[in-house]
Amino acid sequence: KAKENGKNQYRFFDAEIEQASDEMQQTRIELKHAITQREFKLLFQPKVDAMTRLVHGAEALLRWEHPSRGLLSPSTFIEAAERFGMVEEINEWVISQACHTIRKAREIGIDLSISVNLSHQQFRNKHLGEHIQSILDINQVEPRSLILEVSETNAIHHQEQFRDTLRHFKTLGLKVSLDDFGLHPFSLSYLQNLEISEVKLDRSLTKGVAISQVSLSIVEAVVKLAHALDLNVVAEGVEDEEQRLALATTGCDQMQGYLFSKPVEQQFLFDVFSDLQHRTTTKSLF
Ligand code: C2E
Ligand code: MG
Ligand code: MG
Ligand code: MG
Repeated sequence: KAKENGKNQYRFFDAEIEQASDEMQQTRIELKHAITQREFKLLFQPKVDAMTRLVHGAEALLRWEHPSRGLLSPSTFIEAAERFGMVEEINEWVISQACHTIRKAREIGIDLSISVNLSHQQFRNKHLGEHIQSILDINQVEPRSLILEVSETNAIHHQEQFRDTLRHFKTLGLKVSLDDFGLHPFSLSYLQNLEISEVKLDRSLTKGVAISQVSLSIVEAVVKLAHALDLNVVAEGVEDEEQRLALATTGCDQMQGYLFSKPVEQQFLFDVFSDLQHRTTTKSLF
């Protein structure tokens, strides 16, 4: 009897695997299709100066306009794209799209920097730096207009190689921002050994500052250290006035979040700039 059960269980497990791999196959086909049929697009979330609320630039956030499932966020497909080895191609598209946006902005008199998110898989490619540089060259965009966001998780999992790549980036004039900072313990000591120019405080820290004195003290310490290392500090996921006020007291440089703007279409980003440029010669969201 036990043997029979065991066998049934085994069969059941088999069927599950089969179904899962069917779904994977389906996702793989759909992602391939998405790349060739250009079903991806970028939205842009403004980065706002903490003191003046002027917009300095924006983060490009990838979206998949899926034919039947609607607009999808990266959390629903980036892992699959990484598994199927497609993320490099997708992210190269992201960088060239970001370059187009930088150029279009320049054509209408707007000087902005765009941040793009890299995938940890891209760091396996020894020629990543040259690759990015050639995309910039083709589009006639200077490195200073592009910021490469790299999740802190990378720094921890691929320490040596990661550091080498960042050093290489620096020689090419490419700017790097350490994303999702604060998700992991012992983060602080990494900062001084990495060739980066910006730190992005994870949303969990932003949430914490308005609620707990301890969190606020942690962020204060991070900002102090970052400034001592000459790094720009951006807080992400700022949703309400309490968080903004608490963060402002820490001296953090820039903020990003729904309080200021959700991720928007390129045209809307430009409108925000030009509208207010006309009225006040500044670029404030308010
Ligand atoms: P991230 O780089 O940390 O981006 C911030 C995420 O927080 C974005 O989600 C953004 O829409 C969301 N967000 C912004 N403000 C707020 C807020 O006030 N409250 C809340 N609750 N959320 C806020 P999104 O666009 O779904 O992107 C998720 C992650 O996917 C990104 O996290 C990034 O790691 C990754 N990603 C985005 N674009 C790309 C890409 O082009 N390539 C790769 N490889 N990954 C990407
Ligand atoms: Mg990011
Ligand atoms: Mg982040
Ligand atoms: Mg995040």
